[in-house]
Amino acid sequence: MAAHKRSKPPQPGLLPTSRANHRPVCWPLPLPVRSALAALTCVILIISQPVSATNQHRTPASAADKSTAPFQWPAGKTAAVSLAYDDALPSQLDIALPQLNKAGLKASFYLPLAAPTLSSRLADWRAAAAAGHELGNHSLFHQCSRAKPGRSWVSPQRDLDTISASKLVDEIRLGNAFLQAIDGKTLRTYTAPCTDQLAQGEPYLPLLQQDFVAMKTLTGGVVSNMQQLDPYQVPVITPHDVSGAELIALVQQAGASGGMVNFTFHGVGGDHLSISAQAHQQLVDYLAANPQYWTAPFVELMQHVKQQQAAAGQPANKHTR
Ligand SMILES: [Zn+2]
Repeated sequence: MAAHKRSKPPQPGLLPTSRANHRPVCWPLPLPVRSALAALTCVILIISQPVSATNQHRTPASAADKSTAPFQWPAGKTAAVSLAYDDALPSQLDIALPQLNKAGLKASFYLPLAAPTLSSRLADWRAAAAAGHELGNHSLFHQCSRAKPGRSWVSPQRDLDTISASKLVDEIRLGNAFLQAIDGKTLRTYTAPCTDQLAQGEPYLPLLQQDFVAMKTLTGGVVSNMQQLDPYQVPVITPHDVSGAELIALVQQAGASGGMVNFTFHGVGGDHLSISAQAHQQLVDYLAANPQYWTAPFVELMQHVKQQQAAAGQPANKHTR
């Protein structure tokens, strides 16, 4: 599918991957389209080398200052792992969540609040939050740009090219209120649907920085330089059709650099852009057996990252969340 073959220019500070640079093209794909996507395009996004995510807006001087400051994970931890699941898919509740809970690992679930499971399985999402998982914001309607190649699945009323940034921001803030009604929390993070950054041609993500602890907005690789990571431009890896060993290798890559790996999964043992239940279980087992990797909700990881960045000198942003 064109959507999956489409590549974008590498972001500054992010090495291009030889195994694809897919955007999380996801819900709400109709099933036949999902199947076609799986059959045609399930080349997986894995990045083979550590990379740094740099703040494109920071001056060279401040970046240099921060890169020399020490960064420390909490005692006993050598690297961080964010397990995240986009689109509120049934297989996440049925397969991924029980595996995580059995292992005692905490993750982040990014919910498009109009997704069917929000009404059909609200109690399950509430239970996930009560168990310590983050319910992240993934917008109300998962709007993406319909004009991009392979985006015919985007319905006209959910076309990001026709929605103003101010209207989208209003919706996403309403999403935070909706999520607070479910979990009682006021701090959370955001993942941009399709990693699209423009609403009706206007950058909308900067308008939301005060509303979130951090944002996942790019496809990329393992983050190796934590002091230079922009909390509002965090890259994610979106694996599908990969083995547990390949996932574990990415964790070890983060461990080698003392950085973090941000997994954004979709289906687990079902649904679209999926990995197998076995591969997921392998990763979960590995993380449970290796507590030197700090596996925690993204909101918790990024609060620590921002504290460390602030302690090192110039904070990466002016916001206090
Ligand atoms: Zn999504």
